[in-house]
Formats: sequence, structure tokens, C-alpha cells
Amino acid sequence: MVRHHKLKEIRNNLRNLLINVTQEELLKILDKIKEMEYDCNGNMIHPNNMNIKKKSILNELTKKEVELRNLINNSICECRRCVKTDQDMTYNPVDKSWYCVDCYKEMQRWTAKKKTGISVLFP
Ligand SMILES: [Zn+2]
Repeated sequence: MVRHHKLKEIRNNLRNLLINVTQEELLKILDKIKEMEYDCNGNMIHPNNMNIKKKSILNELTKKEVELRNLINNSICECRRCVKTDQDMTYNPVDKSWYCVDCYKEMQRWTAKKKTGISVLFP
């Protein structure tokens, strides 16, 4: 847990920088995908009407898009649930994601078994 406000500020700035760089890259890829999926009149091109090389490039771009989305979603930079970026985070080894401390505690309560009071999904 980071207590000093200057350290929190540095941590938050680094997180936002990483998120912004990743989102900029994601936007570039989404633009490229859109360029490939639509013709010059704005009509969507059906994948059956694309040549193999174009389909292959599109597949690679789509893979990269998913990778970048997962990179942001699974990183310590933002809470998986509330998307806050300025909180202390807790790692959940079950879904391999980071949650802010409040969300993690809330999810632990919601998913706890009535009998034992223990959550398997949020240990
Ligand atoms: Zn949260």
C-alpha cells in the first residue's frame, strides 16, 4: 500500500502514461482495421470478398487489438471492475486480474459461501 502522496502521484502518473500509450496504439490498430473492413464508399467489405493476404493482415491486427485490450484490462494500471487508476490494487490469482482494494473486498463478500464465509473466486 502506497501511503506517501508524492509516491501515489508518481504511481498514478506512470499508470496513466502506460494506459495512454497502449490506448494510442489500440486506436491506430482500430483505424487500420476500419480501413481494411470498409471500401472507399463506406460499405463494409465481407471477409469472403477479401483476398487471403488481406484476411491474414486483418487477423494479425485483430489479434494485436485483443492483446492490447487484455494488456490494459489485466494490468495493475486499472481496477478490473471500477476502472479506477488511482487506487491501491489487489491481485486476484484466480482470474489473474487486479482490483482496487475496495472492489476486491466487495467481490470477496459477494462471492463468499454462506456456510464458510470464504470466497473461492476471491481468495
Ligand atoms: Zn475498483
